[in-house]
Amino acid sequence: MTKGKDNRYQNLFETQKARRNTIGVNTYKERINKLNQLQTALTKTYKSEIRAALHADFKKPHVETDLTEIYLVVAEIKYAKKNLHRWMRRQKVETPIALIGTSSYYYFEPKGICLIISPWNYPFNLTMSPLVAAIAAGCSVIIKPSELTPNSSRVMINMIKELFDEDEVALIEGGIEVSEQLLALSFNHIFFTGSPIVGKIVMKAASKHLASVTLELGGKSPTIIDKSADLKLAARTIVWTKFLNNGQTCIAPDYVLIDTSVKSEFIEHCKTYIKKYYGDDPEKSSSYSRVVNSKHFDRLKDYLKETKNRNATFELGGDVFAEEYFIGPTIISNLPEDSKLLHEEVFGPILSIVEYSTLAEAINYINAKEKPLALYLYSKSNKTIEKVLSETRVGSTGINNAALQFSNHYLPFGGINNSGIGKSHGFFGFEEFSNKRSVLKRNYPGFISLMRPPYTKFVQKLVDITIKWF
Ligand code: NAD
Repeated sequence: MTKGKDNRYQNLFETQKARRNTIGVNTYKERINKLNQLQTALTKTYKSEIRAALHADFKKPHVETDLTEIYLVVAEIKYAKKNLHRWMRRQKVETPIALIGTSSYYYFEPKGICLIISPWNYPFNLTMSPLVAAIAAGCSVIIKPSELTPNSSRVMINMIKELFDEDEVALIEGGIEVSEQLLALSFNHIFFTGSPIVGKIVMKAASKHLASVTLELGGKSPTIIDKSADLKLAARTIVWTKFLNNGQTCIAPDYVLIDTSVKSEFIEHCKTYIKKYYGDDPEKSSSYSRVVNSKHFDRLKDYLKETKNRNATFELGGDVFAEEYFIGPTIISNLPEDSKLLHEEVFGPILSIVEYSTLAEAINYINAKEKPLALYLYSKSNKTIEKVLSETRVGSTGINNAALQFSNHYLPFGGINNSGIGKSHGFFGFEEFSNKRSVLKRNYPGFISLMRPPYTKFVQKLVDITIKWF
């Protein structure tokens, strides 16, 4: 990509702008047709290319691709198709007595031209899911996927070109420079998924045009395991969701806070499940993907080096092979409190274990950090569950499971402050790309029409009555 301003982006933006109002009034049927086309592309025409691209990008196993990149988007499409008619309907609301003589409703109109900037870790899911919501809402879209998964981007660009006219949906490849140029355009809404640090850049750019934003960000998602927990269940589900996608999942358990009395037993169960899932030699397992590139590989290797130098306990793993950006499933305990692994988002196959002796200690530990995107809790005690829910502030929570909340499109998904602003999935995604437009219609003269100037004693009396009774 050449340095300097690229007029193609401005031109593309102007083309979409010229068609904005037509896209905006497109009918239920047209939106459904587009969703159907996208569904067919994901499940039939492009399925094998998607699988091959993700395998080439970071050796993602086909089953994981089917489950996390294809199924989850298709489920979003099906859900949107089933409910779109209802979502597009005018929503009648009640009329306060003071406004008698009027009737009111609101409806969801498209926000307009939207920018979707997506990350590399689930390149299809995190690009296509917001696109589904944007199409359902009737918006036009420019997409900028991550430059770190070029094979996936190539498939997406072909797919988008085949399915949509450029003036309704277009995809532009490129890195930071391209992102910056797109962010300078006056989009109506920006849907960004990525790191908190870039989220701040996006929000600053959006403020220039007062564009609304959805920021799906990251951070450290803790997991609490108390002494009543089913430790086998905890190990089984944590090992899967931690090492899925090689730990490169925004809602993966980042670290475990565990009651000291059950720590050793939990770690033993984790070892059993790691062996069961990935065999004696995970490097040879076709179910285990890789770190995405050398930069992230070096970052993770540095964590391991720092940890080794500071005498933390390697319960399992720690193996690294640079040729393939391989890092084995790793569990570390007894970490010094100031180690990077306990402060930075890990985003890799390393699970840190932190012990606590009282639940309050665990809650304080979480509350001393930024508000997480997800918090998981393994416990059989309702009292513990209620205490953790009421004393922490988090985007989403899984109880006796991890990461599954992401796949229920009836639930809003997103973070809070440092882990995100706004929600996505299902109706909440549709809502994010829509403006809730309010309409009040005057049908006949009402009470309020008697309150105009001149403000006589009679008018004052009416206002007094209104304040007191209505
Ligand atoms: P990133 O923030 O580095 O990049 C995301 C996108 O922003 C990419 O398309 C990239 O090209 C662009 N970008 C990067 N730097 C930019 C800049 N200076 N100006 C403008 N655009 C820029 O994130 P990533 O490494 O691709 O993804 C990992 C992060 O995303 C993690 O923090 C993870 O937790 C988070 N994440 C969040 C969710 C969620 O749903 N909340 C999902 C996946 C990933």
